[in-house]
This record gives sequence, structure tokens and C-alpha cells, in this order.
Amino acid sequence: MNCDNSTDRFAILTDAFDREHLWHPYTSTTHPLPAYRVKSAEGCRIILADGTELIEGMSSWWCAVHGYNNPVLNRAAKEQIDRMSHVMFGGLTHGPAIELGKLLLGILPPELTHIFYADSGSVAVEVAMKMAVQYQYARGLASRTNFVTIRSGYHGDTWNAMSVCDPVTGMHGIFGTALPVRHFVPQPRSRFDGRWDPEDIVPLKDTLERYGDGIAALILEPVVQGAGGMWFYHPRYLEEASRLCRERGILVIFDEIATGFGRTGKLFAYEHAGTVPDIMCIGKALTGGYMTMSAVIASDKVADTVSDNYPYAFMHGPTFMGNPLACAVARASVQLLMDSGWEAKVGAIEMQLKRELAPAREYPQVADVRVLGAIGVIEMKNPVDMATVQRRFVEEGVWVRPFGRLVYVMPPFIITSSELSRLTSALLRVVSEQ
Ligand code: PMP
Repeated sequence: MNCDNSTDRFAILTDAFDREHLWHPYTSTTHPLPAYRVKSAEGCRIILADGTELIEGMSSWWCAVHGYNNPVLNRAAKEQIDRMSHVMFGGLTHGPAIELGKLLLGILPPELTHIFYADSGSVAVEVAMKMAVQYQYARGLASRTNFVTIRSGYHGDTWNAMSVCDPVTGMHGIFGTALPVRHFVPQPRSRFDGRWDPEDIVPLKDTLERYGDGIAALILEPVVQGAGGMWFYHPRYLEEASRLCRERGILVIFDEIATGFGRTGKLFAYEHAGTVPDIMCIGKALTGGYMTMSAVIASDKVADTVSDNYPYAFMHGPTFMGNPLACAVARASVQLLMDSGWEAKVGAIEMQLKRELAPAREYPQVADVRVLGAIGVIEMKNPVDMATVQRRFVEEGVWVRPFGRLVYVMPPFIITSSELSRLTSALLRVVSEQ
């Protein structure tokens, strides 16, 4: 493709109205990054307006584990929409919510028994944090309103979720005193597959000792920190952290919104460690990427304490809570996952990613290469220019969206070995040009 043709082609693939009027995630209206126009998506392919097929490397940000246009999920949505798309959850209930709940409780740890359906990942985090504060209030510990978390985390873009995102790479600098001030401890540096360094837990221990009386809960992403740095840390941290919190009556919240549903090689990432949280958040792949939905699952201890004390109810209730359409699709998606042999598929993806990304370790531009489950990360020494690199990936026929120094993939589990090879070879080529 010569330069002029490619300019025309890329101009056709973007849209003037979109550029002028539609805000995209983390973009400017005056200098927007290009947004490529998609015609359809099928299996592991995104098909652009001009018919270009891109091999999907992102699962639409962790969600589309079954790929796109899946007949089972399509049928679930169509059947449900002909019955009812939505009814309020206040005072009413329905089959899709009940059936999804039963399915989830069958795959979650037995200690987690009460499900709160919410709208999105960020809202799930808000709900979990609110639940923790209300739990402490119910125990007569009204001063326990704060949270502790580890640096380089990401939990969403709403207010409280943002307050526990990494204070440097998150948006604390911009929103300043408008954000509640949380306790941050360093990110555990022991690698997932490396030796456990007991020093890693010391800062958390110190913080809990000093400030524990004001802390309602610890919140973190178990094992894999996603958008805050794509870092995989040692599961022992979770065990130690949970023990320290439990000794002090501080709740443990695991945000499994990105890690849930098989992505890390276990159905949920907490399974890498021998510890179960008091509250867990799930979302993203819950509906196979069909629509937004999340859930917060709490132990008996949390749910009963909140419910048996003033105000005798958990004070949250979104309009679209338990949306039947989302529940029906989520139920179909979770069942499909359980029937899909996901473990073998994710294991095969992991082995192939490890093998095919390994050469990047030798590149002078590359600081680290790491793979866990169906997640492959190339950490560069310097930030990449998103617009340029994105375009190069589209030219290579793959969909990969890097950020900062991180070029990474988390493909749908249905990706074939030859599609994955095309993805990894494009990654190596584009990374080597930086
Ligand atoms: N928690 C984690 C770990 C996430 O990765 C994300 C989304 N990237 C969220 C919360 C927020 O989810 P949502 O974008 O659906 O609000």
C-alpha cells in the first residue's frame, strides 16, 4: 500500500460527524484520535466499513470471550426481548435474574451467597464500596469509612471507583480535592511466576496498623492489575492481605471485573490464591460483551449485618437493576462458557502467547514480556504513539489498542491458532518498528 492510497483509505474509514460530535473514551473533541468505522463483527473478526477484516485482539476490553455475533447469545437476546426487555426490580422479580443467580452461585465460592445486580463495572465498584461502609456502620463502627488499595490499580471512572485508581496514572491530579483521599500502598513487586518476597506485604501491614480503625475495606484487582499497568503479581499477596484485614475486621473486596470468567486461566483470579473475599465485583465478560451488566456478590456475614441493622436495607437500587435482557444474555453466556472447554482453550492461548511473544524480550525497545492465561503483554521502554501504532495494527489486519508503554492482547477464547499467530506476528512487527 503506498502512502497516498493509505491516506485515502484511512480517511474513508473515519467519519466526519463522529469526529465533530461524538466523544470517544479518553479523547479530545478538538484533536480526536481516529475512530475506525465498523460495519459488523463476526467470530474473532471486526469488519470495517470498507470490508477490511481485523483479527480481534482486545475482546472489546476483556468482554467478548465468545467472539461476536454468537448464535447462542443472539437467540437468548431475541427470545427474551419478545417476552420483556425490562421491568423494574423493585418489588418484582423474573426468571432471567433467578436463573442467572443460580448459575453464578454454582461457580462462585460457596462463601459468597448474595448477589446485587448493577449496571456497569464502575457502578459495581461503587456498590461494593458503599456496602463495605454500610457494613461497618451496621457494626457500630461509623468512623470506618475509608479504603486502602494498592498502587497501579484501576477500578473504573465514577467518583469512588476513581478514588481508588492509581493516584498517578489515574485522574487524582486533575480532580484534586474533589476526590476522597484513600490509603495507597505500593504495588506488590513479586511477580506472579516468581519468588514471593515477604517485604511486599509490609507497607499494607503498617498502613492497617496505623489507620485500620478508619478503614472499611481493602479493594484490589486479584493477581492481574489491568488498565493501571497490566501487571501480574504473586497470589501470596492476596492471602497475606486477607489475613491482615480479617484480623482487624476490615473487609476484602476483589474487583474481578476484568479477571473473571476464565481470562487468567482460572475461572476467577482469586482461585490462584487460597483466599476468598468478602465482596466480589464481576462485569465485562458476564454478558459475553453483548451489553453492560455487572454484579456484586457478598458473603452472608456482610449481607446479614447490613440487613439486620439500621436502616435494615442496603441503600442502593439502580433503575436498570436486574435488567431481564442483560440477565438472559448473561445466563446464556456463562452457560456457554462453562460448556465450552474454556480451560483448555485459555491454556492453549497461554502457551502460544508465551512461545510467540518471547522473541520480543530481545528487542531493545522492550522492557518486559509477560503472559498469564489469555493475556499477553509487551511492556515498552517508552510510551508508544497511540494514533500511529493503532494505524499500523489496522494495516496489519489486527485490532490491538495499546496505551502508554503497554502493547497487549487479550483475544476472544474462540481465536484459532492461526489467527493468534497473525496477531502475535503483527505485535512483534509493530513493536520492532518503535
Ligand atoms: N474494574 C476493573 C478491574 C476494570 O478493568 C474496569 C473497566 N476497565 C472497571 C472496573 C470499570 O468497568 P466499566 O468500564 O464497565 O465501568
